[in-house]
Amino acid sequence: MLIFKKVADLRQWLDAEGRKEKTVGFVPTMGALHEGHMSLVLAAKTECDLAVASIFVNPTQFNDPNDLEKYPRMPDKDIALLLHAGCDALFMPAVEEVYPPGLDLRVQLDFRQLDQVMEGVFRPGHFGGMATVVKRLLDIVQPHRLYMGQKDFQQLAIVRDMLRQLGSPIHLVMCPTARETDGLAMSSRNLRLAPEMRAAAPVIYKILQEAKASFQHEPASIVQARAIKQMESAGLKPEYFDIVDGMSLLPVVHYAESDFIVACVGAWAGAVRLIDNLVLKAPVE
Ligand code: AMP
Repeated sequence: MLIFKKVADLRQWLDAEGRKEKTVGFVPTMGALHEGHMSLVLAAKTECDLAVASIFVNPTQFNDPNDLEKYPRMPDKDIALLLHAGCDALFMPAVEEVYPPGLDLRVQLDFRQLDQVMEGVFRPGHFGGMATVVKRLLDIVQPHRLYMGQKDFQQLAIVRDMLRQLGSPIHLVMCPTARETDGLAMSSRNLRLAPEMRAAAPVIYKILQEAKASFQHEPASIVQARAIKQMESAGLKPEYFDIVDGMSLLPVVHYAESDFIVACVGAWAGAVRLIDNLVLKAPVE
């Protein structure tokens, strides 16, 4: 695996590979890699000629300075995992490489309600920073396929919308959420969970599964109120539990109202903020 820190070096290598007409699959990450990230790399490796990953803890998407400071960083372990997964190239830039001083690279697109609901309410500015870094990394890597996790469902919806608005030919691939054996969605932030919170957190997935069953015959308000109560009883501090249309992210009240329904949750487990989601109704292919 080649490791690049400079945009120019990565570009030079990609240009040379491009001349051999190879397809590039790209997996952007913030590091502290786990099996969820690896499943994205493996999918890229399987479906493309070259798998390129990036590790960049993007300061502009952290609305909470404490979260940025405490974000786990373990580059040596990450490199070993990527090597093992057969990743072809890793881009590990410094902040000035991604955001050259004096250049305003901010994405100023209108995502309508997509970045206003759920995470948008509780993490102001987060999606603007996320869209900016994803656009910048896509401009650098210019992949054919972009691999992202369903775990960050709202992020995916916004990136899908950004690619549409930009008229980008990049194919966005949504990879399923990798979970621990007890159901907790894998996340770099899980490393920071206190033991009692690590024990409580799997209730999120159980509640999502219960919601999937009950939403078929109960309105969203009932399902939502029960889910919030169950999370609170387990010692978590839920911020939202929303049942939404999988494309528009607008609220869905009844099961028959949409062909694609997702329940999304954001909750604090002690000092760590967790998110998860579950498709309650999948669109018929
Ligand atoms: P992050 O490093 O948290 O920015 O995540 C990088 C990519 O990995 C994003 O596309 C995430 O959605 C994806 N990802 C994170 N956790 C998981 C998971 N448990 N399963 C699948 N993909 C994940």
